[in-house]
Amino acid sequence: MRCTTQRKAIVTYMLNNKNHPTAKDIYEFLASKNYSSSLANVYANLELLERINLIRTIAYGKFPSRYELTSEPLHSHIVCVQCGSLRDLKTVNIMEETSTSIMNDTGYLLVSLSFELKGLCPDCDQSVQTF
Ligand SMILES: [Zn+2]
Ligand SMILES: [Zn+2]
Repeated sequence: MRCTTQRKAIVTYMLNNKNHPTAKDIYEFLASKNYSSSLANVYANLELLERINLIRTIAYGKFPSRYELTSEPLHSHIVCVQCGSLRDLKTVNIMEETSTSIMNDTGYLLVSLSFELKGLCPDCDQSVQTF
């Protein structure tokens, strides 16, 4: 499969799945669509998509990196320290105000903004309580 075809498939997948997929999720999706590919190939394409600023990487320590499209407005995430599950924070207004004032202060065009929020997701919280 040509790289451009695979990249298009990746972007389409991410448009339809705003769940911050990992490279492995994307690889499994491509495999399910009978695109012949390798995980290394997916990583290479993700790297390229990031370089042309179509996607951003969300990396949290020991967990595999996750990806989302840059067409999503800047927002922060909260991650579970136990299972690595991740969700968007809906504090959009605060984030918008913050990014605007940061850009005004620094003259930088902000392309990424993250607060490292960590916690236990409801599933993991429950499993801790039942111990
Ligand atoms: Zn969890
Ligand atoms: Zn997100």
